Amino acid sequence: MIISTGTASGKSLAYLTPAVTACLDGGTVLYLTPTKALAADQLRTLRELRITKVRAATFDGDTPFEERKWVRQHANYVLTNPDMLHRGILPRHAQWSSFFRRLRMIVVDECHGYRGVFGSHVAQILRRLRRVCARYGSDPTFLLASATASEPGAFAKRLTGLEMHEVTVDASPKGSTTIALWEPPLTDLRGEGGAPVRRTATAEAADLLADLVLADIRTLAFVRSRRGAETVALSARAKLADVAFSLTTPTDHHPLAPGSSTTTNPHNPAPGEPEDLAHHTPTPGPPSKPDHHNSAPSSPNDLDHHASASGPPGEPDHHALSRAASLITPGEPVDEGGADEGDLPERGSLGWSIPDTSDWASLPDKIAAYRAGYLAEDRRLLENALRAGTIMGLATTNALELGVDVSGLDAVLIAGWPGTRASLWQQAGRAGRDGRDALAVLIARDDPLDTYLVHHPDALFGRPVEAIVLDPDNPYVLGPHLCAAAAEIPLAEDDLPVFGDTTPAVLEDLVAQNLLRKRPAGWFWTRRERATDLADIRGGGGSPIQVVESSTGRLLGSVDEPSAHTAVHTGAVYLHQGETFVVELLDLEAGVALVSSASPDYTTFARDITDISILGTQRSHALGPGTLHFGEVEVTRQVVSYLKRRLQSGEMLGDEPLDLPPRTLRTRAVWWTLPASAVAPLAEAGIDLGGAAHAAEHASIGLLPLFATCDRWDIGGVSTELHADTGLLTVFVYDGHEGGAGFAERGYARATDWLTATREAITSCECDRGCPSCIQSPKCGNGNEPLDKRGAIRLLDTLLTQHSTSC
Ligand SMILES: [Zn+2]
Ligand SMILES: [Zn+2]
Repeated sequence: MIISTGTASGKSLAYLTPAVTACLDGGTVLYLTPTKALAADQLRTLRELRITKVRAATFDGDTPFEERKWVRQHANYVLTNPDMLHRGILPRHAQWSSFFRRLRMIVVDECHGYRGVFGSHVAQILRRLRRVCARYGSDPTFLLASATASEPGAFAKRLTGLEMHEVTVDASPKGSTTIALWEPPLTDLRGEGGAPVRRTATAEAADLLADLVLADIRTLAFVRSRRGAETVALSARAKLADVAFSLTTPTDHHPLAPGSSTTTNPHNPAPGEPEDLAHHTPTPGPPSKPDHHNSAPSSPNDLDHHASASGPPGEPDHHALSRAASLITPGEPVDEGGADEGDLPERGSLGWSIPDTSDWASLPDKIAAYRAGYLAEDRRLLENALRAGTIMGLATTNALELGVDVSGLDAVLIAGWPGTRASLWQQAGRAGRDGRDALAVLIARDDPLDTYLVHHPDALFGRPVEAIVLDPDNPYVLGPHLCAAAAEIPLAEDDLPVFGDTTPAVLEDLVAQNLLRKRPAGWFWTRRERATDLADIRGGGGSPIQVVESSTGRLLGSVDEPSAHTAVHTGAVYLHQGETFVVELLDLEAGVALVSSASPDYTTFARDITDISILGTQRSHALGPGTLHFGEVEVTRQVVSYLKRRLQSGEMLGDEPLDLPPRTLRTRAVWWTLPASAVAPLAEAGIDLGGAAHAAEHASIGLLPLFATCDRWDIGGVSTELHADTGLLTVFVYDGHEGGAGFAERGYARATDWLTATREAITSCECDRGCPSCIQSPKCGNGNEPLDKRGAIRLLDTLLTQHSTSC
């Protein structure tokens, strides 16, 4: 069974009830989550139930060795993660025999996290688990819990290999949520090829946060990175300081008024946001002081054209006030969330409260930033401050999803498309708990998908969320798990169907590589190494690159080899748990990237050049006058340079060359071709076919995440006026992971919708010749040359219009 419903709809209760019952009946339960933190949360919940017969324990990398034996022998509710199951539990199944024999239920929580290559690995781990259970004579029920997803039953079947019932009706009480789609305006700044640059999502988020807090609306702003969140909080505080200042001294203030201070805010980090074009970099000032304008020597806090256009420093920020007013129906009680608090200030006619004069100076303190890594007690303090209304605005990364219980919020700001409709609703669901009405604002960033979405509300509303995509048949995933399975219990002919149709072929290959031995009784792992070492379940294959802080030798994490070229090349700005580092050196031979903590005022994008050849076509069908294909390809990619873009504005600072070897990738791709007869009229009309195909490719990469749960960095593309293998104009979009990850396959299945959305994204952008919101790509190895915006529309028209008339 899979339960796929929204945030706070009672999923935990739905699996806890039967799971606890199973324990009381003498059975055992295995609970899986993607993260240790969630397992710890669940453990707390279980312990709070105080049911003595439920002996719950976590079993993960942090479990002390001396406790492990106790868990194996006595716990009847074991909480773990797929990594531990893969490396620790399944290979030692004999030590868990009494647990497995009594296993009644397997809870797979937050299973929407199991997508792409990681999801494919987890799918094979669950098949291994089923086989081990069968060995001990148990046949546990799988109960999966997921955020809303489209076709959850089909996903759950792919993940577990079992037929699944789905529960998708969410009958939990909810108020109504007003959703605003917010597109920042184009600015006068110019980017690549003279393209206009939009105002950043974080700058807009800071404005809105200040406005909403002024309106006495409890607001949470989701920002991609920790520094971005801190930047939003700082900017919003600065705006409130402006307001406080103008209210305390309505006229006549002097910039060098006595009492000005040069204290700086101790909370100020260096501002900026690395992984995102959306930045708003305030100059740190002492936001809680009304005279802050005087004390921030380098610039005032209103760094964007909007705010500075609202008047000279020190003028009241009418902009903020009037916008707050425009968001809120005048005179109506807007703060339902605080209605039951006795000590709220009086409300003004605009709907925002007029604070007591003595409170004005402390207005900015109503806004804070939250980041991962806070201690539990700090988190509780923050929760209390939000509940009591001493903090009204909180800017956060979605680290908040783990660990802080925020209820009673009225509004949520989401700076930049969070990647999926599922996460959008999850974040928006943070507002309006307990049946109250709420506001959620999605603020678009400067990229094709964000732009498309704010222009096409129908792509968000009344539509199922995206399917969670994975590809357990990927031979690069399946092979290592077959070895691991054979090491657990030799593989017999009867076992093969569990692992899918491609198993016999992959087994043959493993035997040929001397990884497995075929004997009359089946397939055996006879090597000394641990078979589980073959599968790198969180990586993309290859030996991972260790990311090490050079000053301390601290290991920050690892990046799989294919991603290393783009994520941790020399000079890259690298983000780790919201903190920013710059890569000093990528040493591929040593497998190390040395990084140092830094606060550059730019962000980086690796650019690659790509060659693609077709190895085989698995499926194809006609699409308009052209043909759509899905199949296996070989991609040769070389990261050749990286682009630097200024944080605050997205302005391009230059392209730095890199010297990295090419990489080959065997993967799956979706591609379409158009015959010469269909493109000749376009060429005659003066369209640059290469530029048109290139523009269509970029935009289609930007839009595929709307249909498959990937992000644009998981996929790549190649376009050409004439491809050697097809002899035709061809546009490819491929999975950026060895063996494929299911994204291209999904693109093939939803091609008409996908390419229609692509065309729409291009036409709805108001730029003239193409910009990052439509056809430019931040990772284009050709410097976004050539691109033909009108040509791309014509090309897609040709591909799509005739298609709809022909069927
Ligand atoms: Zn554009
Ligand atoms: Zn390109």
